[in-house]
Amino acid sequence: MKFKVKHSSDFARCSSLELRRGSIQTPAFMPVGTNGTVKGLSVDDLKETGSEIILGNTYHLMLRPGDENIKKLGGLHKFMNWNNPILTDSGGFQVWSLGELVKISEEGVRFSSPYDGKKIFMTPENSINIQENLGSDIVMMFDECTDYPSTFENAKSSMELSMRWAARCKKAHKTDSALFGIVQGGMYTDLREQSLMELLEIETDGIALGGLSVGESKEEKLEILAFMSEKLPIEKPRYLMGVGRPEDIVEAVRYGIDMFDCVLPTRNARNGQLFTSEGVLNIRNAPYKMSDNPIDKNCYCKVCKNYSRAYLNHLDRTNEMLGSMLSTYHNIFYYQSLMKDIRNAIKNNIFAKFLKDFYNSRNLDMPEGPI
Ligand SMILES: [Zn+2]
Repeated sequence: MKFKVKHSSDFARCSSLELRRGSIQTPAFMPVGTNGTVKGLSVDDLKETGSEIILGNTYHLMLRPGDENIKKLGGLHKFMNWNNPILTDSGGFQVWSLGELVKISEEGVRFSSPYDGKKIFMTPENSINIQENLGSDIVMMFDECTDYPSTFENAKSSMELSMRWAARCKKAHKTDSALFGIVQGGMYTDLREQSLMELLEIETDGIALGGLSVGESKEEKLEILAFMSEKLPIEKPRYLMGVGRPEDIVEAVRYGIDMFDCVLPTRNARNGQLFTSEGVLNIRNAPYKMSDNPIDKNCYCKVCKNYSRAYLNHLDRTNEMLGSMLSTYHNIFYYQSLMKDIRNAIKNNIFAKFLKDFYNSRNLDMPEGPI
């Protein structure tokens, strides 16, 4: 893996990340391909939208169809016909989301498959092994996501467990894929710093921030981002996991984040919510029934070029699958265009103007922050 910061504007930076299946440009958005597919999009669609890397879900794929089966079939890239980079999550977050059904010990986590009730024991070592079976280009370390809210003591012991697991992940990692560590520590900056220091000692290729967007306030999240922006090493890629809305992404880029993933553009598309240059539009609303306008007059995707709001409103009302497909295509295209605009603004040294225009066009107040 090679990572090179090419341009920067205060903390915000524009970089290239060279992985074993090709390079990506950052700041990058990774559409989420839960079951080996970004719901509603073919790989050709994905490429057209400008997506250079996608995320695969370890938890879902190990249960169905099983990572060993995917390995036998030539790996996840061949299986789903996607020949560009894939990042896989560790499965830790989904297991954590099962709540009380999970038993956590020093060794690993025990839970039952929601599909057939089969008892599963997952350790840091087999999370890495599963991700390697899938053929992931960026393997994530297995961690425990700290509950929110959490006392200092609980956040500390959870983070320390994650760091002991991180050392085990590093040992278990055998291929030439990149390995990213995950900073935990809840809302406590000193724990976040300790977690980062331990990951730097273990020597991971990239650093992710975990345990955010779990219910904390916007102020709490920004405080952690601002703190981390001063501490993170410049030479490693930084990934903010599970974030978020366009304004959350823009805000995090201001604090030097390079990579994002989120289910919002795909999941919300299926619920009629479309992201536009002027904010979110709900295609189900009555005024769109007779609107001949495109979803977003500033978007040059094939959906905005060829279809009206009225047609998408009709497809949604009649529950036609094409409605979800076109809406997802537009939303992912919108996110990737936003990332391209962000990268161009940083490259051309006009990121401050970009921020002002971004917030103005959505009638949002621009939060205090760098730049
Ligand atoms: Zn569009």
